[in-house]
Amino acid sequence: MAADPMSGESSPQPAEHFDVLIAGAGISGVGAAWHLRHRSPEKRFLVLESQDGFGGTWRTHRYPGIRSDSDLFTFGYGFKPWMGKPIATAEEILSYMGEVIDENDLAPHIRYRHVIERASWSGEEARWTVEGRRSDTGEPFRVTASFLWMCQGYYRHARGYTPDWPGTESFGGRIVHPQEWPDDLDLEGKRVVVIGSGATAATLVPAVAGRCAHVTMLQRSPTFFITGRNANELAQTLRELEIPDEWTHEIVRRKILFDQQKFTRRSFAEPETVKAELLAGVRAHLGEDFDIERHFTPSYRPWRQRIAFIPDGDLFRAVADGKASVVTDHIEAFDATGIRLASGGHLDADVVVTATGFDLSVLGDIAFTIDGQPLAFHETTTWRGTMFTGVPNMAWVFGYFRASWTLRSDLVAEFVCRLLGHMDARGAKRVVPRLRPEDADMPALPWVDEEDFNPGYINRGIHLLPKQGDRQPWRHTQDYWVDRDDMPAADLDDGLRYS
Ligand SMILES: Cc1cc2nc3c(=O)[nH]c(=O)nc-3n(C[C@H](O)[C@H](O)[C@H](O)COP(=O)(O)OP(=O)(O)OC[C@H]3O[C@@H](n4cnc5c(N)ncnc54)[C@H](O)[C@@H]3O)c2cc1C
Repeated sequence: MAADPMSGESSPQPAEHFDVLIAGAGISGVGAAWHLRHRSPEKRFLVLESQDGFGGTWRTHRYPGIRSDSDLFTFGYGFKPWMGKPIATAEEILSYMGEVIDENDLAPHIRYRHVIERASWSGEEARWTVEGRRSDTGEPFRVTASFLWMCQGYYRHARGYTPDWPGTESFGGRIVHPQEWPDDLDLEGKRVVVIGSGATAATLVPAVAGRCAHVTMLQRSPTFFITGRNANELAQTLRELEIPDEWTHEIVRRKILFDQQKFTRRSFAEPETVKAELLAGVRAHLGEDFDIERHFTPSYRPWRQRIAFIPDGDLFRAVADGKASVVTDHIEAFDATGIRLASGGHLDADVVVTATGFDLSVLGDIAFTIDGQPLAFHETTTWRGTMFTGVPNMAWVFGYFRASWTLRSDLVAEFVCRLLGHMDARGAKRVVPRLRPEDADMPALPWVDEEDFNPGYINRGIHLLPKQGDRQPWRHTQDYWVDRDDMPAADLDDGLRYS
């Protein structure tokens, strides 16, 4: 606050103003900054990030073995060649993102340790006022922006999701969530139980097997996995032929996307065949005697939940070697020495890792108001999964489940830059999605169809998410191969109002 020399009273400092404010410096936010710099170079922009560095997911998660579960040719950006192996460690991903920041001089645009707490839209001023506090000093900050680009991810970074099991307080060992991995945790000689069956559990188990006395993956129900070599032969050949890296990146991306499209389509058209193929991959590592039916055969069809890639079958090799085991059962309660199971069994444990997922956080825990009214995000309808009815000058990034997240953040980025150019060409200061007269009787469908895709964090949080319609431009398809053609051609005057 500054003293007003005329009245002697304090008045707020004028806030710094930006054309675009990006929330979050994860892979989406850094990508958004790159696109703005290259596609809309005249725009003044700022990235605000609550953590003390860039990376988002890849900075937050520090558990042993942390790695991607999709390939980096498609999880990497379209604009920067990936030079490593397809499946990458968090460290490799952070180093790749660091290069993007350095090579494009993005660092001056990013402010770390800035937690956004409130965002208020003023229709009269056609701008967002964004307020929060610095995580290190607690100092408040306030900036204004004409356009808000939400790249805050989909889950709460500060803590993970842990179900409420009875008896945890009586457990004599240590319970840790992979999202809050303690630096001082020494697993040497310990009996470790990892609760969960998703990508995190499947990464952690082989990473700690051999370092601890024994590790058990305790799952309620099995998950599908794909196994294969952590290598891309086409990329290796193109590199040997000294093809320029940009070409190699693009060719390999296209090939992977072509193969993934075929695989995704087949998992809908011939689920039993795809299931048999996936299980054969597991059996090749574990042999005929292992109870694959019980431990690795899900009850849902392939792709109804994310399918993690297991490089070189390391999870199954750890099980085959006897360093790890899999138990499929239900937790009855924790006790002093471990976990009592519904089947009557008991798992002795010194350390229990709860790889039980995330807490959905749809808008980065930011309190939004629009002209003084709190935003009820779940009551809005989405414009192509990116903008929302009644929410002006805001785009939101929510990536793919069945393909790399970044494919979508790149598509959204191209769209936002096109939209900003369109607004300038029209001389518009505001853009807001509004249902058209012909949409009056359109059904309000859930953000994700449960029949189509139903991971736990979406099921737990579906009531917080916006609705979609049954026609464009109100669809959120979760289909990269549809969006790839649809988004760049989307009519910017259909369902969007400008003023
Ligand atoms: C362990 C793990 C592995 C994964 N592996 C893959 C994979 O291989 N392939 C894939 O496609 N997807 C994967 N995912 C999904 C993954 O989260 C996304 O792919 C991607 O990293 C998300 O990037 P993002 O930038 O959109 O969001 P995030 O990585 O979540 O980053 C968002 C950033 O916004 C910041 N932020 C949030 N709220 C605020 C606020 N109020 N103020 C300021 N800053 C804020 C956060 O601190 C964070 O840094 C994985 C997820 C996890 C947890």
